[in-house]
Amino acid sequence: MTKESKTPSIFKMLSNFAKSSIEYVAAGMPAVSESEYKKRIETCHECPHLTDTKQCGLCGCYVEVKAGWRTSTCPDTPPRWEKVVVGKSGKPINLKK
Ligand code: SF4
Repeated sequence: MTKESKTPSIFKMLSNFAKSSIEYVAAGMPAVSESEYKKRIETCHECPHLTDTKQCGLCGCYVEVKAGWRTSTCPDTPPRWEKVVVGKSGKPINLKK
């Protein structure tokens, strides 16, 4: 399988990164579990959109960072992996002690 090497423009990449960062910080910077991270990374490594610089060719994000954020989604159609949603509102549930 040939890997695509094109990434979006720098402006599109910055826009995508800013949107992802805002959502990630607003949600309290939740990380995925180690097993979910591994599953996402393995999927990206099999994906034709992954570039030689380990960026997603569709959004321009570095997949090793993107895959660790629970709020991230794969931009492919259909997504090759989904955002991890916990709780009805999609926010982590704080359990009482
Ligand atoms: S985020 Fe999705 S489209 Fe991008 S490289 Fe990973 S699997 Fe492919």
